[in-house]
Amino acid sequence: MSGRQFPELENTFARDLPDMFEPWSADRVESPRLLALNESLADELGFDVDWLRTTEGTRFLVGNHVVDGMTPIAQAYAGHQFGGYSPRLGDGRALLLGEVIDSQSQRRDLHLKGSGRTNFSRGGDGKAAIGPMLREYIIGEAMHALGIPTTRALSVVATESTVVRTERLPGAVLCRAASSHLRVGSFQYAIGLSVEHVRRLADYAIARHYPDLAEHENPYLSLLDAVINAQASLIAQWMHVGFIHGVMNTDNMTISGETIDYGPCAFMDSYSPSTVFSSIDHQGRYAYGNQPNIAQWNLARLAETLLPLIDAQSDTAIELAMVPLTDFPRRFNEAWLAGMARKLGLGTVEEEDRELVDDLLTVLTAQKVDYTNFMRSLSLCVRGDRSRTHQLFDIPPSINPWLNRWDVRRARDARDPQTVAVDMDTANPAYVPRNHMVEQALAAATHGDIAPLDELLEVLQSPFDERPGLQRYTEPMPSDWDGYMTFCGT
Ligand code: AMP
Ligand code: MG
Repeated sequence: MSGRQFPELENTFARDLPDMFEPWSADRVESPRLLALNESLADELGFDVDWLRTTEGTRFLVGNHVVDGMTPIAQAYAGHQFGGYSPRLGDGRALLLGEVIDSQSQRRDLHLKGSGRTNFSRGGDGKAAIGPMLREYIIGEAMHALGIPTTRALSVVATESTVVRTERLPGAVLCRAASSHLRVGSFQYAIGLSVEHVRRLADYAIARHYPDLAEHENPYLSLLDAVINAQASLIAQWMHVGFIHGVMNTDNMTISGETIDYGPCAFMDSYSPSTVFSSIDHQGRYAYGNQPNIAQWNLARLAETLLPLIDAQSDTAIELAMVPLTDFPRRFNEAWLAGMARKLGLGTVEEEDRELVDDLLTVLTAQKVDYTNFMRSLSLCVRGDRSRTHQLFDIPPSINPWLNRWDVRRARDARDPQTVAVDMDTANPAYVPRNHMVEQALAAATHGDIAPLDELLEVLQSPFDERPGLQRYTEPMPSDWDGYMTFCGT
């Protein structure tokens, strides 16, 4: 074994933000069994992969082997859940182990999920089941490979204990890395304590994520502005790949702009803005098409906590905060349209391109066309072959008027079709984690067969690189899976 076994750990959050956490220890796991290990991430974080596979390393991954510098804490946060405010949520089944500096010199949190009850558990058992933890692993890695900011799973360890949900399930502990676990809900918790607590948290957030802002005239207004930018960009990227988060509560929205907490999330098959996956989202609050509105709503909650820091006069503070906040739709739309233009192989973004995109999405919605496969098929049209696109429609010629309009638009760019097609294939994934494939891999893994999971992860690692023999990963959900829902809180 060469080099060190694990990276140096610190906990600047615990050091700098008293009152925002409680020191805690992970439950003891009698016989931890490593189920999935993210070797490239382990390497990036400075771990010796061979060591993580030893008994000691695996005990580290469930918080039972405590090393120097590790100060496990349960973080406190509040949050609006489906619009209703809870002043005290916090890590009810999670712990922050500490922070490491990765190979890119970035500070990353190491965080456990499923590590036992804490003082924030309320009625919960503090546990997690294998299926949902592997699910977070899969979707996070898929997002990362798609180039979308996200927390990432380092490992899933089976606990060989039972978790009781609607059925009895095998338990697991997830260890994940995040650029931080600062949430909109962290600010909501801080303002419940005092303005001084928000100031300390905001200073910490600026130092960690947006250090240049410290020199700005009004750093707290600039922080709000920066988070609004990060979220506008993030949500646009979700929309580009048809991702539905499912639980966009304010405690599940980061200050860093990383996607966090993969619960009842999914990638849409046939295109429809009203698509909902969470079984408890009866109102469609977190439907695919509603995500930008909800993001803006959550950012308004963040803004409220920062007002006393932005200006001592509340009227002035509101006036100042409203500028970036009301600009969110424009920022989102600009990011979204730029990305859609790339997906459609347009070299520039023109004003009337919005109409071209909107009209396409109207057709896809009306005809219930698979979004991922349609977008991927377009580069073949550019290469002169519409057959794959046509196969996606019940009445194939019905898409021709739009395809013809799009041809005329691209002709104006006068770019080489080969180059355009190659570019488009780097913007339109061939493979996304489709629900039925994910569920099959999880069911097999839960019963001890890890092979389908490994293969799925392998496919999703290169989403833009279409390979022979992987046809089944591109097929939409079989019709007998219709009405598929994912579930929260498992
Ligand atoms: P989530 O829906 O995973 O974002 O969690 C929302 C809140 O519920 C957080 O405060 C979690 O810590 C808490 N929570 C979720 N599941 C459990 C559980 N099984 N036991 C204790 N707390 C939980
Ligand atoms: Mg959460």
